[in-house]
Amino acid sequence: MTRRGEFELIAKLFAPLSKREPGAFALTDDAAALKPKPGHDIVLTTDAIVEGVHFLRDDPPETIARKALRVNLSDLAAKGATPRAYLLTAAFPSWISDDWLEAFAAGLKADQKTFGVTLVGGDTVATPGPLTLNVAAIGEVPSGKMLRRAGAEPGDDVWVSGTIGDAALGLALLKGGPASLPEKTRSALIARYRVPEPRASLGPLLLAIAHACLDISDGLAADLGHIGEVSKVAIEIQAGDVPLSPAARTVLAAGGTTLSDLLTGGDDYELAFTAPASSRTRIEALAPKTKVPLTRIGSVAKGRGVRILAPGGEALPLSRAGYTHF
Ligand SMILES: [Mg+2]
Repeated sequence: MTRRGEFELIAKLFAPLSKREPGAFALTDDAAALKPKPGHDIVLTTDAIVEGVHFLRDDPPETIARKALRVNLSDLAAKGATPRAYLLTAAFPSWISDDWLEAFAAGLKADQKTFGVTLVGGDTVATPGPLTLNVAAIGEVPSGKMLRRAGAEPGDDVWVSGTIGDAALGLALLKGGPASLPEKTRSALIARYRVPEPRASLGPLLLAIAHACLDISDGLAADLGHIGEVSKVAIEIQAGDVPLSPAARTVLAAGGTTLSDLLTGGDDYELAFTAPASSRTRIEALAPKTKVPLTRIGSVAKGRGVRILAPGGEALPLSRAGYTHF
């Protein structure tokens, strides 16, 4: 198909995704115009994903689309924001086919419904390089209330949602190891890598509770380091308290990974936050409400740096500081 034909197809596939926002003008204008909800701030975030770095070329197009959107929705959740809209810029290499594009648009459509977001603009270009997708996501939060990385206080508890390390194991499996896992375990871990689960319902409920919050993309240890740095505090984590999925426990028990690898692997897209001990009961009540497990894994102290303590009480040596993408 000619490039021109391809771009016509893209317009045909993407314009219907903009329907819910009249200010997107069915993607026929240079820009969109959105009115923020009264009493709210607009929260903006952007993240790109690149073939060979954040996903593999053979991944299903639906899951590539959903990952591009979801890593951004995860950032909105970490700020306590409710997602509203997004812009998508796609650099498509020549191997992209019509079928691929249709499946890609279907992935976006499904997640727009799940998370209540609407495509309001973007751009498509041809590239001689790897498939690259950049999403800019727009959310809303009550004015002045956005959760920050700054704000953690000595004496706070450190909490984390869901389970840690699954996506890193999923990627390791896609790259060939560790072998001999039951098929169900294998596919559960790969799914965590391909389609992260942004904690969209949890984030806004943390607005009145958390002192500091972020989403874990570079690995638990590195990202808690970011909270510590900006909040100017030290963070101590009990490695034995970090929640692991049954699948991760199976791999760990079989020697296919280490606790250190799980705590420094990337792509978890869980929320890590700090909150005063007086909020424990309120936080525990959020888990059944959101169906997202919440686990207390450590505490904030005066000082600087992140210390990870092994179950025996000694400092856990980390294999690497966190996933740096290179
Ligand atoms: Mg983030």
